Amino acid sequence: MDNIRIRCPKCEWEPDGRPYWSCDRCFTCWDTFKTAARCPGCGKVFKDTQCVDESCNKFSPHLDWYEGLDGVVVTLKKEIEESWSVSK
Ligand SMILES: [Zn+2]
Ligand SMILES: [Zn+2]
Repeated sequence: MDNIRIRCPKCEWEPDGRPYWSCDRCFTCWDTFKTAARCPGCGKVFKDTQCVDESCNKFSPHLDWYEGLDGVVVTLKKEIEESWSVSK
């Protein structure tokens, strides 16, 4: 993950590893970038991620948050999309 940066595509806010996101199904709070947008509580996948920055607060596709060397990011996004198609 060294060559990949995660940031809001709209305002460049960078997640700091805290559990800002909460699931609307089981109310788990977690860091959505640790689990590639999947709720660790119930397995629901959140394909859109909301920015935590108060002046932004916008939803963007989860995959748009990843930025880095093309090949690396493409591979990572493919892995994430594959993990989404597997249900727990
Ligand atoms: Zn933002
Ligand atoms: Zn959940």
